[in-house]
Amino acid sequence: TIEEKSSVGSRILVFVRLRPMAKKEKEAGSRCCVRIVNRRDVFLTEFASENDYLRLKRLRGRHFTFDASFPDSTSQQEVYSTTTADLVEGVLQGKNGSVFCYGATGAGKTYTMLGTMENPGVMVLAMKDLFAKIRHRSCDGNHVVHLSYLEVYNETVRDLLSPGRPLVLREDKQGIVASGLTQYRAYSTDEVMALLQRGNQNRTTEPTRVNETSSRSHAILQVVAEYRVRDDTMNVVNRVGKLSLIDLAGSERALATDQRTLRSIEGANINRSLLALSSCINALVEGKKHIPYRNSKLTQLLKDSLGGACNTVMIANISPSNLSFGETQNTLHWADRAKEI
Ligand code: ADP
Ligand code: MG
Repeated sequence: TIEEKSSVGSRILVFVRLRPMAKKEKEAGSRCCVRIVNRRDVFLTEFASENDYLRLKRLRGRHFTFDASFPDSTSQQEVYSTTTADLVEGVLQGKNGSVFCYGATGAGKTYTMLGTMENPGVMVLAMKDLFAKIRHRSCDGNHVVHLSYLEVYNETVRDLLSPGRPLVLREDKQGIVASGLTQYRAYSTDEVMALLQRGNQNRTTEPTRVNETSSRSHAILQVVAEYRVRDDTMNVVNRVGKLSLIDLAGSERALATDQRTLRSIEGANINRSLLALSSCINALVEGKKHIPYRNSKLTQLLKDSLGGACNTVMIANISPSNLSFGETQNTLHWADRAKEI
């Protein structure tokens, strides 16, 4: 019930995941500027400018600590178990939850969320866990799992499972819904990976780099699980919970624009969505009455998946390379703020 839910204080859990050094970064002569200790502490080192890098001078060191921090050797399964398994449990109890991956382009957000066929990420592992548990919990053997996969790009919402015209958001009894969004009924995990990979290929690409997924697109997977259980008094009750898994747009600042192009508009909109997300989270935790969901499409869509009644997890993705020092520092600062919420 609502009363029950509102009395449960939620805190945002914040995690950091370091990815391995990429070949390109090695070839560019980069050095590792991030060290993770005890699965919690993150040490960031700034080296002297490239001119005197041979002196390996340490300029400034910064130390952060999170609910957990994952070194580059951490498996997808461990990331899932530590960050998201509890949320899946919550969903089975009828509580909504959301997991966000935040970080610069190339930091490992999509790898963490979607992963590869060989190393499936949080989205797939969550589905797998959900299916395994729901079968056992259902009192009559029946359950329904629906998923939808959508994109917010430049404040436009699109269906990634059935690409076409932009979707219109409208408010109905259930909350904010995207009109005509595909609700795919999933029966097993096997089909999900292929489905999501196809969906991911439908994400908007940069006009200039046709084969690369746009760093300006937010991808949202929403999974709704419904089944029946017997409560303490042996009455059959319906349980519905929703899990939202969000691969956010790249958090890097919009490129310096000497050309006033679409790109700068896009950049502004992404900042708007990310900004709106932060404002909502801030307002929620400060217990404000007015939560500014309306400020962006992303926050409108997540209205029922953020806030007091929901579990929220942030995974900040970072690169180890000193070439990304600035982005990494920004990401860690942001994650550090989110933690205090
Ligand atoms: P983002 O979505 O944040 O832009 P990606 O997830 O696409 O970044 O990651 C960039 C590259 O790094 C990809 O080639 C990806 O496979 C690789 N990568 C990211 N994280 C890991 C990881 N933990 N282990 C191995 N490879 C990774
Ligand atoms: Mg990506």
